[in-house]
Amino acid sequence: MPELPEVETIRRRLAPLVEKRTLRAVEIADPRWCEPLDANALTDALVGRRVERLDRRGKYLIWEAQDEVFLLMHLRMTGTVLYDPAPETPYVRVRLALDDGHMLSFADPRRFGTGELALGRPALDAFFKARLGIEPLGAHFTSDHLFTLTRNRRTPIKAFLLDQRRIAGVGNIYANEALFRARIHPLRAAGQLKRRQVAALRDAVIGALSAGVDAGGASIDDFRHPDGVKGAFQNEFLVHDRAGQPCLVCGATVVKFVAAGRGTYACERCQPKPRRRP
Ligand SMILES: [Zn+2]
Repeated sequence: MPELPEVETIRRRLAPLVEKRTLRAVEIADPRWCEPLDANALTDALVGRRVERLDRRGKYLIWEAQDEVFLLMHLRMTGTVLYDPAPETPYVRVRLALDDGHMLSFADPRRFGTGELALGRPALDAFFKARLGIEPLGAHFTSDHLFTLTRNRRTPIKAFLLDQRRIAGVGNIYANEALFRARIHPLRAAGQLKRRQVAALRDAVIGALSAGVDAGGASIDDFRHPDGVKGAFQNEFLVHDRAGQPCLVCGATVVKFVAAGRGTYACERCQPKPRRRP
């Protein structure tokens, strides 16, 4: 599933191609994409407007159109935004036509991706305030901030990292990678981490996400860049998807287990298990 680095990769590649272009047409082939909003209402709000900026918040891709009309795309499990794809590209749910003759398609085999509208910046802010916590690649994500967020939280740290209302954009891959980098076991209670561990985790979250962005995201399944090229971060995983292989730091065997309902990978020598409490 696309996480922050994958959405950021799409944003960086698309922004120069779509910013300052006008949306000539919006064709919604699958009205379920924007439910409960009516497909015609969404089309009417966007057609004829210039794209001022392509932005991102957490895993949302934000199309800021003229007069503060915002289209919020979430790619969910399998969504990809393709630039001038081949006409026979399967699973296309939405098409956007630009005034320079180029075309964007939202392809989404599993059809979990969504499109929503926010009219005006206050509506946009309210939308994200209800759904997303701090932006991990933003200036406010300090170790002090993360320390405060984790206090009195009995949640295992892996589940804590996946909660979008606390930290926005971290999904399963980057949570596994960040915890390995910080040498913290995924089942440790968030509130019991020491200040220096929280500082290491903050750096590790930024480090893992930045490495993902630098590699153009991870393509394990459907994720593609707008030009159809795959990301390369799957070749750089330190622990994710490496069950049974030697830890790159100490040589112990990487183990896989389920935490927060997701496939979790760890080296339990580098990331000692929490001691069972009496
Ligand atoms: Zn190890």
